[in-house]
Amino acid sequence: MRWVDTEAICVGRRRLSGADRLVTLLAPDLGRVMAVARGDCLPRNRQGGALEPFGVSRVVLLPTRGGGLFRVDTAERVRHFPNLTSDLTRCQAAGLICAWARGLSREGEASGPYRLLASALALLDEGEPVLPLVAGFLWRMSGELGVAPDLSACAGCRLPGPHEMLRIDPGGAVCGACRKPGDLPVPPPCGPALAVLLAGADAPLPVLSDQTARPLISLAQAYLRGHFGVGLP
Ligand SMILES: [Zn+2]
Repeated sequence: MRWVDTEAICVGRRRLSGADRLVTLLAPDLGRVMAVARGDCLPRNRQGGALEPFGVSRVVLLPTRGGGLFRVDTAERVRHFPNLTSDLTRCQAAGLICAWARGLSREGEASGPYRLLASALALLDEGEPVLPLVAGFLWRMSGELGVAPDLSACAGCRLPGPHEMLRIDPGGAVCGACRKPGDLPVPPPCGPALAVLLAGADAPLPVLSDQTARPLISLAQAYLRGHFGVGLP
């Protein structure tokens, strides 16, 4: 593979020996990739803070011998989200959605998940309510990954919905008669909100109370873990 010049969001990083850092990047055409940033831990590093979390950067990546890992040649921040680092709650929410983006992404084309993450970080920075935004991000991520539940009819008997249970595999609503162990209950006020959240990644987020958004976040996390296994946030 040749060098690549791409936009990317840093979704994880850890220190290597010396002043080097290993960063996990999400890029629209590459998906999740790992890259070594030489000297990134030095106070005046050549990346100039472009690989700090929660911002959009333009990076030039060079393949390393053996493949599978890149080296950061240059990095430049192209979009700052200053409010994310100055507000603890927003910072935590940004950390959570980046961790989920990291856990759910793979190498390969990922323009949908990338767009969703960039848009969620921008909305968090602009002051949108935090919990509805996290709920929207997680449920829309299920759509981008092709596992959004079908809420229109029961996955067992096809009785038209809405229903108050969710089955992880195949993703869908289930009626009381078809309920099995392992199905996830959808708290009553959350059903209609979930349907709106799943309506489309580009639709505006519905206005949700924190009381509705909080169980939708827990439900999304259980649902995504059920699909994609352990090792997730
Ligand atoms: Zn049924």
